[in-house]
Amino acid sequence: MKITQITFHDGCHATLVVEIPETEAFNTAERPHLPRILFKLLPRLASQHCENDEGHSFRREAQSTEIPHLFEHIIIEIQDQVRRGVGIPFRGETHWNWTVDPRGRFHVTVEYDHEMVALGAIRLAERMINAIDSRDIASLDMSREISRLRDIAKLSRRSTSHRRELLGKSSQKEEGAGTSPTPSVNEDD
Ligand SMILES: [Zn+2]
Repeated sequence: MKITQITFHDGCHATLVVEIPETEAFNTAERPHLPRILFKLLPRLASQHCENDEGHSFRREAQSTEIPHLFEHIIIEIQDQVRRGVGIPFRGETHWNWTVDPRGRFHVTVEYDHEMVALGAIRLAERMINAIDSRDIASLDMSREISRLRDIAKLSRRSTSHRRELLGKSSQKEEGAGTSPTPSVNEDD
């Protein structure tokens, strides 16, 4: 799995283009160790809210879902741990449309409150998925990673609130959340 594009917009949304080569698995059903190890590394991930077609809990949904959807939930969980669970829950969405895009391309959108923390969370989530997939989790020290991101959050607090002020003053229109029909969407909050 590879992130090929990261776009920050509206001061609180990051949209990622994620590509999975055809030679790799798209779905966790083919990689059962992925959700299993992730729920051990991030136990609270299992209780995250998830809107999916079947109305499954995220614990159940994660057993058979697109890997970028799992990735979306990890980014949200990392950011939530950085701020110690305080605040309005972050929302996310994963969608794909292979009638338009090449097969294996996904679009993941997540909310954030600090751009630098979001970037760190995105890269950490990517490392986690790839490390677990190649069975190399010894390289992951989650408590160290989270405390590093907390340090970044402290430093970036001022610039974020400044950005929010600017956004509040501008007459910028908020983009609609996908008005065109797509075959598959997972919305979360
Ligand atoms: Zn979900």
